Amino acid sequence: MKKTFLLLLIGSSCLVAQAQNNFDTVNIKPVLVAENLYFLKGSGGNIGVFIGKEGTLMIDDQFAPLSNKINGAIKTLSPNDIRFLINTHLHGDHSGGNENFKRMGATIVAHDKVRERMSKEQVNPTNKNVTPPRPEEAWPVITFSEKLNFYLNQEDIELVHVNPAHTDGDVVVHFKKVNVFHMGDMFVTYGYPYIDYGNGGSINGFISSLDAILAMMDDNTKVIPGHGELCRKGDVKNFRDHLAEIRDEVAAALKKGKKTEELSGLPIASKFDAEWGKGFVKGKDFVLLVADNLKATQVAKK
Ligand SMILES: [Zn+2]
Repeated sequence: MKKTFLLLLIGSSCLVAQAQNNFDTVNIKPVLVAENLYFLKGSGGNIGVFIGKEGTLMIDDQFAPLSNKINGAIKTLSPNDIRFLINTHLHGDHSGGNENFKRMGATIVAHDKVRERMSKEQVNPTNKNVTPPRPEEAWPVITFSEKLNFYLNQEDIELVHVNPAHTDGDVVVHFKKVNVFHMGDMFVTYGYPYIDYGNGGSINGFISSLDAILAMMDDNTKVIPGHGELCRKGDVKNFRDHLAEIRDEVAAALKKGKKTEELSGLPIASKFDAEWGKGFVKGKDFVLLVADNLKATQVAKK
């Protein structure tokens, strides 16, 4: 039972991708966030677009079949070249257009782990599924481990990696002067987040990373989620607190010697379903994922 679920979930980032595979009908809509800063909605992760005289910087690129449409939408905002393309992490709904945008001249920037994972065959430790490497044209050409700064178009842009969270190569992009964050999939509004353990994700790291990023925000901060509409600091705090509550209750139950099968019957397994249960991860499954990750962490510590 548990295994079947895990297998399902491991493929679920692909399910998100497949849910909207009719790319012809996708419209790319720019939403103004701050002066010269937009996000584009389409199919896949939200794309950040920062424009100016010195060139355009974009964050994430959705799926390859949408690249021309996305490029067209960006060119309506500014005719200048797309100089930099940042990948918030390696998933295909955020990096599927890398080859196309690199060919158009963009320099791809990401965390060290994104290039490492894209350039090698990945074997999922749970279900042994093999993901072939991405073609070299898709790989980032500039990588970093903790922080990287861009000084472009009079803006001060900082890329921050804290701890493994959604994956082990997550990057948050902070536009300091206009007080805007692009969170990648470290913050989403579709419900329970996906924690990709096969790509190094971690529930504890998810929470500690959000704490570090929240400390950089204030009440005027605008937040572009990996998926969903524009949010505020309070939304990120709420999301973090839900995750911490689930993690703490699951940890307490495990400490009491509860079996994995008993966890999905706990009140915490459905407590947030009204708010989060519409997404592709369900509460009772999420607690099992959290439990598996906490147990794996315990084993690693011993
Ligand atoms: Zn993702």
